[in-house]
Amino acid sequence: MSAVISVNSDNIEISARLFFYGAQANPDLGQKIVDEIMVMWNAPQATYEVKGKTLPVVFDVRFVVVEDNHIVQLCINNRDYRNNFVRIGEKNTSERSMMGFGLGHNVGHWLSTDNLGESTTAAHEFGHALGLPHPENLDYRGTGHPPLMAPRGTLVDPEFQWDAAAVPGEFGGTMKPIYRKVRKEEVEAILQPFDLNKNRRVNVGKIPNLLFDEIGNPVQLI
Ligand SMILES: [Zn+2]
Repeated sequence: MSAVISVNSDNIEISARLFFYGAQANPDLGQKIVDEIMVMWNAPQATYEVKGKTLPVVFDVRFVVVEDNHIVQLCINNRDYRNNFVRIGEKNTSERSMMGFGLGHNVGHWLSTDNLGESTTAAHEFGHALGLPHPENLDYRGTGHPPLMAPRGTLVDPEFQWDAAAVPGEFGGTMKPIYRKVRKEEVEAILQPFDLNKNRRVNVGKIPNLLFDEIGNPVQLI
């Protein structure tokens, strides 16, 4: 996903718009996905200092469901880094929800069978889109909920494992992704690469403006 960071007088806003299309795209699903991203990323109520002033960081993510015959024109003409184009389908060639062909691409093909909006996956992918890698530390025992960017296989306290009774690191003894929560430091890590004292508006990601066919093959428009 791509996004725009803007420094306003009273906050720092990270905004993105998701244009959903395809046979499985519908407003209920769109709302669930956007709610997951918004609720998780706004939860830590992170702040960030710009020019000596501490500002709240606010995530504003919206969606629209677009009919297939309108999506081509929208996509071809897009120059706005807030805009992302995501087909929701039943299956695709890589058998998982995917975002473009590289980190931060504004196009995707997601599977309706992936519990979109009911896991922490959409919010985790949004973090990747904003430039966050998986953490190097993969052992969060004794630190509470694991961070959102922790990958599968991370070690956590028993209550955050798939099976609380399992031996850490063995079957059932790793992080169940639903227990991930955004930490303040993860929000700060999004902003740190940019000099927000000089640039009040920053584009994040890439906008190849491609579409996908029903099974996830790219359709070159230009
Ligand atoms: Zn990941």
